[in-house]
Amino acid sequence: MLYNLGSINIDHVYRVPHLVRPGETLASRDYQRVLGGKGANQSLALARAGGRVTHWGRLGRSDAWALAPLEEAGVALGDIALVDAPSGHALIQVDDDGENAIILYPGANHGFATPTLEALIAKAEAGATLLLQNECNGLAAAMAAAKQRGLTLAFNPAPMDQAVGELPLESCDLLFVNRGEAAALAGLAETSPASALLEALAERLPEVTLVLTLGADGVHYRHQETRLRLAAHRVEAVDTTAAGDTFIGAFLAARQAGADIETCLRRASAAAALCVQAPGAAPSIPWAEAVDAALAE
Ligand code: ADP
Repeated sequence: MLYNLGSINIDHVYRVPHLVRPGETLASRDYQRVLGGKGANQSLALARAGGRVTHWGRLGRSDAWALAPLEEAGVALGDIALVDAPSGHALIQVDDDGENAIILYPGANHGFATPTLEALIAKAEAGATLLLQNECNGLAAAMAAAKQRGLTLAFNPAPMDQAVGELPLESCDLLFVNRGEAAALAGLAETSPASALLEALAERLPEVTLVLTLGADGVHYRHQETRLRLAAHRVEAVDTTAAGDTFIGAFLAARQAGADIETCLRRASAAAALCVQAPGAAPSIPWAEAVDAALAE
């Protein structure tokens, strides 16, 4: 089993002629309210890829509707707390050029109490994996409890902030980072060669398996002395939202199914390439059948 202690957001998406200016009141042409959040996206990606995932999260009581896509994909939702607090949410403006501006409010995602986290992790199946992102609070406590319970710890430090540097990253088994996150953790410029980013991270975290995603430039993988590189699929990207989340979910689902590492990377790259070819976050996360078809091409 894989447990994802992850954010659940409501994304409010407004189509606007231009991003709102200071002091301006602007009419929106279109409005959609959809499930979002890196945690929820990764659970969705895992389940659609055929993985078994239990999502642990917190959501405002009136927003239970947002869980429907997770339920439909087969994510186990038994431990979602519906709380009397605003859900985590994002106000997203998208203008005619596809540019966006986002206000993110963590809301219920930042309401985890340490005893609650410890109680959840204490009941995790032996040998399970715990997946974390950086959109919920209590990460240090969750990491410590996971290690004590003997769980495999997978972490995606997104969105990156300073607090990530203070987490016990050396206790992670698997770290998923994009170029920006890798550069921040390694203390190098984002323009550094990917191999330099990877080696700097490997030096800092020698025991951690590293998966460095590089957008259209593919992915680099490092585990002890093993280094693998895989090019991205050549596709026309229309919206890269949730590409990283899709990659992580598909990778972990393949790993859970016992695939070798190259297969995990291949399936994840194919899933993420499908994701970037469709607009939106949740709707663009592919199912296993679509990934099989893309790999068979
Ligand atoms: P994030 O979304 O976290 O910033 P990346 O931009 O590194 O992560 O993208 C994650 C993965 O998605 C990449 O490793 C790649 O497999 C896939 N991907 C992203 N952008 C493209 C693209 N333009 N073409 C093909 N695949 C892409």
